[in-house]
Amino acid sequence: MRYISTRGDARQSQKKSFTEILLGGLAPDGGLYLPEEYPQVTRAELDQWRGYSYADLAFAVLSKFVDDIPPADLKALVDKTYTAEVYCNGRDAGKAREITPVRWLEPGLGLLELSNGPTLAFKDMAMQLLGNLFEYVLEKKGEEINILGATSGDTGSAAEYAMRGKHGVRVFMLSPHGRMSAFQRAQMYSLQDANIFNIAVRGMFDDAQDIVKAVSNDHEFKARYKIGAVNSINWARVAAQVIYYFKGYFAGTKSNDEQIAFSVPSGNFGNICAGHIARMMGLPIGRLVLATNENDVLDEFFRTGVYRPRGTADTWTTSSPSMDISKASNFERFVFDLVGRDPAVVRELWSKVDAGGSFDLSATPYFSELPKFGFVSGKSVHADRLATIRHAYEHYGVMLDTHTADGLKVALEHRAKGMSTLVLETALPAKFEETIVEALGRRPERPAAMIGIEELPQRVEVIDVDVDAVKRLIVRNVGER
Ligand SMILES: *Cc1c(COP(=O)(O)O)cnc(C)c1O
Repeated sequence: MRYISTRGDARQSQKKSFTEILLGGLAPDGGLYLPEEYPQVTRAELDQWRGYSYADLAFAVLSKFVDDIPPADLKALVDKTYTAEVYCNGRDAGKAREITPVRWLEPGLGLLELSNGPTLAFKDMAMQLLGNLFEYVLEKKGEEINILGATSGDTGSAAEYAMRGKHGVRVFMLSPHGRMSAFQRAQMYSLQDANIFNIAVRGMFDDAQDIVKAVSNDHEFKARYKIGAVNSINWARVAAQVIYYFKGYFAGTKSNDEQIAFSVPSGNFGNICAGHIARMMGLPIGRLVLATNENDVLDEFFRTGVYRPRGTADTWTTSSPSMDISKASNFERFVFDLVGRDPAVVRELWSKVDAGGSFDLSATPYFSELPKFGFVSGKSVHADRLATIRHAYEHYGVMLDTHTADGLKVALEHRAKGMSTLVLETALPAKFEETIVEALGRRPERPAAMIGIEELPQRVEVIDVDVDAVKRLIVRNVGER
């Protein structure tokens, strides 16, 4: 399996292997990596895979994308990643063993539980694997990496819990000082692992993000101190998310003759991009329902053919904050397929996006091709979110997180006859207490392991918005190079 860039030329020398792109982000030409062609699953494979455990399914799916890690090693890595101990959160052992069980709300409508990992959000599903893959590959190469990132919550904690204690990896995570919830702060800052560095910046999330960009643009420093990232465009993260679409399909259907619909709360288009890839591999997905919050860049595209990223100033701060995006960083992967995998077209479209503009496909043949890809979309705003959380609690006795509520709201608008729908549960309500209290007048339950974490000692360094201060902090902890 070779990987190509969405903006690149097709010369053999430009093609990369899985481990060559594992530690990187963007391709050198600014594009995103994708497999040269999507591996296909046969009917015989589907029949066989239906009975697999999560770890066995992970091995089967990933083996289609990875050919430069010996199979026995890859098997050991997935076995170590997808265990009932890592994805339990106080559930009974039977459910925990399924890793991503389905909770049926009514016949034909269920939740695919993806949020029982250590940080209570679906990002653990892929990030935990990434932690083990990074450690393995770095050890083989005799290298190390210093991950630098900025977070306003979910991604940073998922990265820290995946990388804690891993050899060859350090994490320097910037967060906006005093702007995360007490629970989010406790989750990250209470980690005492020697390779995790929490840095609270006296500023906003965007200030933290700008520091990360400035450090990464200092190519000399970046190379010398082996600075890397684990952002949502990382190909291995997308590949790891493909697995649970297969698991969900088998749990939600009785035979491989059936089709299924998935509803996906979306921001950066990473999660649903994995669904698109599963579908391109031949998994019988009838519909991919894309749900956005008030930040409806993607809903607008699927309805109108216009992709119009907003500036940060026009990005709403909402009660489903992990979907507050102005630009969908993985969207380019889908558009590459939509335009017949022609990198010249992608280059032209993104020359507009990268200059702060938009593009309109409505009058092109590509837009007529869109239905072929199975997407429908919709949007959910704060009042919808509250109403959906109440509805689910009253009718199904289930407490939903705010993002999952957006997914359910839009799923209900697009239900198809004779096809089950699974809503991807992207976080547990315990992460977003305030909005749950607003909707239901009561607090969500917390998994036992998280009770009282606000009381634990915290390890965090507070600094001004200052690029050099961050560089000095890195040098101090990595040692002069
Ligand atoms: C990251 C996140 C999303 C959005 O996922 P994308 O892959 O960025 O589309 C939705 N819900 C939660 C809880 C998240 O953490």
